[in-house]
Amino acid sequence: MRKDYKEDNAAKMKFVSLCTLMTVVFSLCESAIGEIDYQHLRIQMVERQIRARGVKDKKVLSAMMKVPRHKFVLEKYLKKAYGDYPLPIGEGQTISQPYIVAVMTELLELKEGDKVLEIGTGSGYQAAILGEITKEVYTIEIIPELAKRAKKTLLSQSYDYIKIKAGDGYFGWEEYAPFDAIIVTAAPAHIPPPLKKQLKDGGRIVIPVGMPGAYQTLWRVRKSGEKLEMNNIMGVSFVPFTRAR
Ligand code: SAH
Repeated sequence: MRKDYKEDNAAKMKFVSLCTLMTVVFSLCESAIGEIDYQHLRIQMVERQIRARGVKDKKVLSAMMKVPRHKFVLEKYLKKAYGDYPLPIGEGQTISQPYIVAVMTELLELKEGDKVLEIGTGSGYQAAILGEITKEVYTIEIIPELAKRAKKTLLSQSYDYIKIKAGDGYFGWEEYAPFDAIIVTAAPAHIPPPLKKQLKDGGRIVIPVGMPGAYQTLWRVRKSGEKLEMNNIMGVSFVPFTRAR
């Protein structure tokens, strides 16, 4: 009787350890599969949504391939992180559609070492894409909660060289001006004059301009001496550019 009980117990112990081992193996596989999935989704995003639609700049394509977009979205949208659409990031704001991020970045014609200013940090995703191309990235967000969260996300992804400030981007960032390129990811009714002023000769601004809620135009502006060459790129839909009160 006693022996049976002992053997029974030993068998139970073996079974429990086997189950524990299997759970560990399964969870390891699951995280590995999860990782592979995100990478796979990222490759699909770049091939189907971005390269297929004509974005060619190798630096942009490799940045889009590298930055883990799922780290910049709210947890409830994890599965949709690589979809062909913008997603809510809280505070009534959105992370832009991947294709729009790629097009706008390509239009900036960035080279390594260029100094770039972003107005509208939001999730920090666009800033991370810029940060893959150049280390001189400055970004301003008007909603302090978003600025704080973006800073945390960027730090957790090792983009510690990206400088973020909470404030009204209408005035640019005088302290670090002039910039080689400026990207605005919210739509004002006109191009803020301080941004034109803080652009280097030969510099580029990429900006959606138009009334909130209406069809806006994405412009690529090139500064040439005192002149601004304006290029109408396409119709877009962005959240409004708001002003500090
Ligand atoms: N580039 C972002 C997308 C952000 S949506 C990303 O990759 O996630 C646009 C952002 O612009 C919003 O977070 C909004 O709060 C911000 N914004 C609007 N007006 C602004 C202003 N005057 N100055 C700075 N940020 C502004």
